[in-house]
Amino acid sequence: MTPAERTNLVQRLAAEVGLARAGVATAGPVPRADYLAQWLARGWAGEMEYLARYRELRADPRQLLPGARSVIVVADVYRQQEPTTTGDADVAASRSGTDEKGQIPVGQDQPRGRIARYAWGRDYHRVLRKKLHRLADRLREQVDEPFESRVCVDTAPILEREWAAAAGIGWIGKNTLVLNQEFGSFFFLGEIVTTLELAATPPATDHCGTCTRCLEACPTGALTAPHQMDARKCISYLTIEHRGDIDPDLRPRMGDWLYGCDICQDVCPFNRRPPQVAEPAYGLNDRNPLPPSVPLRVIQGWSQEEYDRHLAGSAMKRASLAMLKRNATIVFENCTRTQT
Ligand code: SF4
Ligand code: SF4
Repeated sequence: MTPAERTNLVQRLAAEVGLARAGVATAGPVPRADYLAQWLARGWAGEMEYLARYRELRADPRQLLPGARSVIVVADVYRQQEPTTTGDADVAASRSGTDEKGQIPVGQDQPRGRIARYAWGRDYHRVLRKKLHRLADRLREQVDEPFESRVCVDTAPILEREWAAAAGIGWIGKNTLVLNQEFGSFFFLGEIVTTLELAATPPATDHCGTCTRCLEACPTGALTAPHQMDARKCISYLTIEHRGDIDPDLRPRMGDWLYGCDICQDVCPFNRRPPQVAEPAYGLNDRNPLPPSVPLRVIQGWSQEEYDRHLAGSAMKRASLAMLKRNATIVFENCTRTQT
């Protein structure tokens, strides 16, 4: 089997395990290595010190897996065939009434906090990791030589966006996220670093053009310039990663976001159409009845036991109970201010 035939096989198997796209880059020094270094030097990572750790490992995936020759990058779409931002209220309304099951009391007339789309369903780390292991196993069954592989989902020290761009999954948009012309930006990235020799797939062309919608729409000014993001101002960072008090200047600009923020993706023209492919596990489900928005008083009244119970298997556990309560207080202030 030639390297090009193996790449075709990877892409076919990726589709079979339910992934939207797979591409390949040649393992070596990470593309745009200076980007992360400059970003960290500016202090724009805020409290995410972990990003500064394992620099050597991040610099080259051959440090993660000795003898690595290829990086397989996959996209797993999480946005479902559902209404966009404007329609989310309808989805929320259709999910009321969990009280009877002893779940979460939901009222339609109370201030609510919104949850970013990526956290609506099951925790992607588990779902995507399983798919990547399945892909590696099937590949092992079908290729003609033994190989080593290492599966990475978010937690491994690998610069996912850079490798996704190199492998042609999409281009890095002005909102700093990877965009695919066909299915937009609401997808997770995962990688398999492998010693198998594969043919690289070509990088994607940048289609942002003269558009600046994401920069104009960002309520906190976190997108300081095209492709530049000061995470310390980003609502996603503030609500999910930042543990302390939030700057009083930023609080009113956080609007009704309780967990994460989708604004710079929602306004992107490449997310106008819902994607044709999506992993159902990432959609709304009864195991976590909170998304897409939750009454603030529910969060404010939670005990640690209730937090653990309701968020079991959800990516929302990235924020502690104290952080969710802090976020709920801010959203409540913002909702009250809007009403008066
Ligand atoms: S996620 Fe929200 S706050 Fe962060 S850059 Fe995008 S629009 Fe701005
Ligand atoms: S909103 Fe426009 S500029 Fe921003 S990422 Fe999308 S296409 Fe690019």
